[in-house]
Amino acid sequence: MTATAEQLAAFRADIGNVRCIDEEKLVQAKSRDYYWYSPILKEWLDHCSGQLLVRPRNEEEVKTVAGAAARHRIALTIRGGGTGNYGQCVPVEGGVILEITGLSAIREIAEGRVVCEAGARIGQVENAVAETGQMLSMFPSTKRIATMGGFVAGGSGGIGSLRHGMLRDGQNITYLRVVTVEEEPRVIELHGRDILKAQHAYGTNGIITAMDYALAPATDWIHSIALFDGYPTALEFAIQAQASGTDAYLITVVDRRFARFYRRLTEYFPVDRDAVFSMVAPDAMAGFRARVADLGGTVSLAGSHREVEAANLPPAWECGWNHTTLQALKLEPGAWSYLQVAYPRPFDPSLVARQQERYGEELYFHHEMARMDGEVQVFALPLVSWRGRERTYEIIKEMEETDGCTIFDPHAITIEDGGMKEIDAAQIEFKKEADPHGLMNPGKTRGWLPGMARA
Ligand SMILES: Cc1cc2nc3c(=O)[nH]c(=O)nc-3n(C[C@H](O)[C@H](O)[C@H](O)COP(=O)(O)OP(=O)(O)OC[C@H]3O[C@@H](n4cnc5c(N)ncnc54)[C@H](O)[C@@H]3O)c2cc1C
Repeated sequence: MTATAEQLAAFRADIGNVRCIDEEKLVQAKSRDYYWYSPILKEWLDHCSGQLLVRPRNEEEVKTVAGAAARHRIALTIRGGGTGNYGQCVPVEGGVILEITGLSAIREIAEGRVVCEAGARIGQVENAVAETGQMLSMFPSTKRIATMGGFVAGGSGGIGSLRHGMLRDGQNITYLRVVTVEEEPRVIELHGRDILKAQHAYGTNGIITAMDYALAPATDWIHSIALFDGYPTALEFAIQAQASGTDAYLITVVDRRFARFYRRLTEYFPVDRDAVFSMVAPDAMAGFRARVADLGGTVSLAGSHREVEAANLPPAWECGWNHTTLQALKLEPGAWSYLQVAYPRPFDPSLVARQQERYGEELYFHHEMARMDGEVQVFALPLVSWRGRERTYEIIKEMEETDGCTIFDPHAITIEDGGMKEIDAAQIEFKKEADPHGLMNPGKTRGWLPGMARA
């Protein structure tokens, strides 16, 4: 679908004053995300690039770009901060990259909700809502660069999911404003559960320009590290802490073999102890410490965000979820990749013990306590010693077929393979409305077939 020079020239003539860049190096840089976590995707996507970069400043300019892309039948890929892991915003068929970060206004902050534009950086929104004594219901550890729209369209959950579930759950997102990619673009407003038509659709079915996102009362969380003599005890502690309703925002269990990657924490996370990184409410700290002691553990670090930052230590959110993989890849690039595992419910820790026994030095585990559909859900994002594609898929098969886990495959680029394996019919129906020519982020959904495109 790569656009011809004529198509691109006609597109440029059509978008008037919208900022448009064709400088090759910059366009290439804006065609990348964190897909390189996967050696499989690295090989596949390294050569992919868009052809033009546009930077609209407001929704009117977004509509101008959408209309021109539709009229000239040019592929259109939306980019927020470009921190996705699976080539989510890599244009695999060339075309135009629309960088949404020019739409960064925060329109309204009310009790429990923020209405903001999609290109606002998550950290920027977090700072603004902090002034009203509130915080985001959840965020990814990439919040300084990542945008609200990118999180909604590409993310699934993260720090805060322990309390507030996954992004798609409950009232986390209650409104999306979406621009269609048609000759005469329209705005579609999605309310309530209808937001699922465009949430986690990888920007394949409309351009999100604004949203309503959930807030919670701000808490000055205590970033803590609890150490245990043995992974099963550390895991047991985390399960108990969650089951007993410990007032926490993050609980992540990390195998002692990660200690060598956490260089700034050498003093607090030694190589002979397994760790639980948590963000705990100040009032809950006494109970937290008592529970750690009950299981024979010790608390090696406990401080507010300001305190850990002043001590040049990483916040707890940089020690869990996918930041853990980043820590390892920074020190031993090429040696590791990772998997994303959802455990069957109810969680059975003996399954983890069997997996650790089975994989030994090949997999380093860390487990994330979360909620999904209102229930306790345990995830793991194990680091996998890189032994090639075949071995990777052998492990995936074993974990799915023998262990009953669901693997969100981080070596695949489609929504379905990276997610629940099923095509979301409602998202495809919405795509027929919001992207009738099938121009948005081509190749990223298996549900869209060429015959579906409007002529
Ligand atoms: C170290 C690390 C840790 C991470 N931790 C987490 C985590 O805890 N939880 C999590 O869910 N993810 C996580 N991620 C993945 C990613 O950082 C987040 O999902 C992030 O919120 C993506 O935002 P972004 O602005 O960078 O999106 P991008 O990467 O720019 O885009 C992501 C997808 O959304 C689409 N998109 C972007 N903006 C729009 C828009 N306005 N309208 C329509 N489509 C759009 C893009 O086309 C693309 O398909 C992590 C990644 C890394 C590298």
